[in-house]
Amino acid sequence: KQRNVNEPEFLQAVEEVAETVLPYIVKNDIYYGKNILLRMVEPERVVTFRVCWVDDTGEIQVNRGYRIQMNSAIGPYKGGLRFHPSVNMSILKFLAFEQVFKNSLTTLPMGGGKGGSDFDPKGKSDNEIMRFCHAFMSELFRHIGHNTDVPAGDIGVGAREIGYLFGMYKKISNGFTGVLTGKGLSWGGSKIRPEATGYGTVYFAENMLNTKNDSIKGKNVVISGSGNVAQYAAEKVIQMGGKVLTLSDSSGYIYDSDGINTEKLKFVMHLKNEKRGRIKEYLNEYPNAKYTKGETPWKVPCDVALPCATQNELKVDDAKSLLNNGCICVSEGANMPSTNDAIKAFLNAKILFAPGKASNAGGVATSGLEMTQNSLRFNWTREEVDKKLKEIMGNIHDSCIEYGQEEDGYINYVKGANIAGFVKVADAMLAQGVV
Ligand code: NDP
Repeated sequence: KQRNVNEPEFLQAVEEVAETVLPYIVKNDIYYGKNILLRMVEPERVVTFRVCWVDDTGEIQVNRGYRIQMNSAIGPYKGGLRFHPSVNMSILKFLAFEQVFKNSLTTLPMGGGKGGSDFDPKGKSDNEIMRFCHAFMSELFRHIGHNTDVPAGDIGVGAREIGYLFGMYKKISNGFTGVLTGKGLSWGGSKIRPEATGYGTVYFAENMLNTKNDSIKGKNVVISGSGNVAQYAAEKVIQMGGKVLTLSDSSGYIYDSDGINTEKLKFVMHLKNEKRGRIKEYLNEYPNAKYTKGETPWKVPCDVALPCATQNELKVDDAKSLLNNGCICVSEGANMPSTNDAIKAFLNAKILFAPGKASNAGGVATSGLEMTQNSLRFNWTREEVDKKLKEIMGNIHDSCIEYGQEEDGYINYVKGANIAGFVKVADAMLAQGVV
């Protein structure tokens, strides 16, 4: 704690893991006394760098770039890049730490990392985005590589940004390699990668509901966010017969009591991805919906909640509202969207609760599949990738049961995900010695 005193998000993520993993270490001689967790919380390498670029008015802008290379015990560092003004060391270290466990859970050979910049893409022209991405990669390139560290997208980094980043990497490295994932389909991307995080979050919710002989079909579902993860979570819920009631962005949320159907979701995708508009503009097209400014959607009664926007967007009072309104299942699409107090409220109420490192692992798992396809110089079909994604989400669910089922039969997915993720990385670290 003393070493990371100004890093509240990082400490929060570590605390959540330590609460379940430390008792496990104490009970297991092979891990006890080896300071494994202490080693895991210290990044293997942290890089920060200056990113200078020229805006459309000719003014020189300066941003800060980062890459946290957290743990490479089981494979090359792997994890997204986030462009958002809130980006700092604490946020990226929490994301990188979570990524280590998540990547381990996928069963694919990927270590954990995360990076990004405090650059704010909102309101920037396409040319400004391109100049920034090129400037960012002109330094990042020397720290990454398809066998070393393979970044992907995250908040503020989608297909457009990955394209510009890849273009610069290819130029200065003089090679076409799978150094980034989330690439376009015609230049090395994998089918289903854009959909994978959202789809996976819903597959995981379905797996959880199946343990109660229940399913998504016919459920009222509240979703936060309206970016990549939220859009495809909504698409999958609709496909599986659920009713999507809300979507949001950082300005507020929309509530459509008739349900956001395929046609309405198409409008949202165009609004957010092409027009780069705000979610309140939904009402221009569908005036029966309601817009609530400055709030999150957790007071809307629902059966299933999918937080898909950002960290700490669901606080303990929100958890209580959801529980009071009869919510039975929460599957996190975002990283650490629930505060630790909110998680405790869900666990105490013994509802189905999946932490992001398990339920949103479908994105990075499909990135892993993209890396495999790049190495093979081969493309799997949409059906093949979706099938593998479903299998991986099912395997993660099984691992959570193996390590998280309690004596009364309740499945504590937080405990299950943390311990299952820990074991594989810890075993590799022990085998490789003190390095
Ligand atoms: P996008 O940038 O596509 O969308 C982010 C969404 O969250 C937007 O609706 C955005 O609203 C909203 N949001 C961002 N910051 C805030 C904030 N401070 N308060 C309220 N709302 C906010 O990102 P993604 O959909 O890719 O990522 C969403 C979450 O999922 C993140 O936690 C990310 O780490 C996680 N994740 C993403 C993966 C992926 O494959 N993309 C993989 C695994 C996890 P606005 O437009 O107003 O900013």
